[in-house]
Amino acid sequence: MEMTTDGGHETWMEQAFREAEKALAKGEVPVGAVVVYEGRVIGRGHNLVETLQDPTAHAEMLALTAAANALASWRLNDAVLYVTLEPCPMCMGAVLLARVARLVYGARDARYGACGSIVDLAACKELNTGIDIVGGVMAARSSSLLRDFFAARRTRAAPGPESDVQHPAPERCESG
Ligand SMILES: [Zn+2]
Repeated sequence: MEMTTDGGHETWMEQAFREAEKALAKGEVPVGAVVVYEGRVIGRGHNLVETLQDPTAHAEMLALTAAANALASWRLNDAVLYVTLEPCPMCMGAVLLARVARLVYGARDARYGACGSIVDLAACKELNTGIDIVGGVMAARSSSLLRDFFAARRTRAAPGPESDVQHPAPERCESG
């Protein structure tokens, strides 16, 4: 699948943001993902950790499962995963196990990111089957979505000195 321009990436990343907005509407950390195959979305997912009380219910995991169901195959060799935030180690493990051809992500996750932020799983030759990784696509939008979410949650949790909400917490990938 050829998708060499930023424009192409942004079209699909926009779909991932629609998923992130669904998570936000449910009070979940806003992270969204889609799996694209042969020019169409075959799997979507948004973070549902709180809703399902499931630590594995990250956007990427749900999108990968949906995509595998759609293809009736766990091998997603020719698929591309778009996700608004750098995947955590669990999700990156799943991405590599699914043989996803290409991963495109938005903002980096300094706390849980497994594409180089805290660990780089794809750098492990035993795990990497040749995935192509593109980071930083629409990263600013992803970061501001997360920052606003955590600022609002903090304000709700503990209305206090204004200074509290002026210093956003590190981005988190509770979420995916
Ligand atoms: Zn994750």
